Amino acid sequence: MADCIFCKIANKEMGQLIYEDDTVAAFEDVDPQAPVHLLVIPKKHIERISDIEDGEDAALMGHIMVVANKLAAEKGIAEDGYRLVANCNEGAGQSVWHVHFHLLGGRRMTWPPG
Ligand code: AMP
Repeated sequence: MADCIFCKIANKEMGQLIYEDDTVAAFEDVDPQAPVHLLVIPKKHIERISDIEDGEDAALMGHIMVVANKLAAEKGIAEDGYRLVANCNEGAGQSVWHVHFHLLGGRRMTWPPG
């Protein structure tokens, strides 16, 4: 989508990818909330988690989990623990309208989240 910042990053028009394959991309969050804070996104423009339907999109989300697990291992946070978070809609804190999973680790996490 032309005016979507995460589509631009996925298309390498801006920013720096740390991972990509045919359907998924990952990059550092510009405002990190933990020592490791990556964003893992589908290359396909999907606005929000609640738009995901069964079938192709559901398989894509499963693949994102697998990629996130690999990235967590590569970043050395797999054993201690990491958090994979997706905010859906403004009330949950979504500010970019392209599905993304925050991969956070490298510090002790608290619960419940704010
Ligand atoms: P959310 O508020 O859950 O929608 O998360 C959006 C995330 O995108 C925030 O953590 C921002 O810091 C991050 N972000 C916004 N613009 C960029 C960018 N150009 N490059 C990397 N991360 C970004």
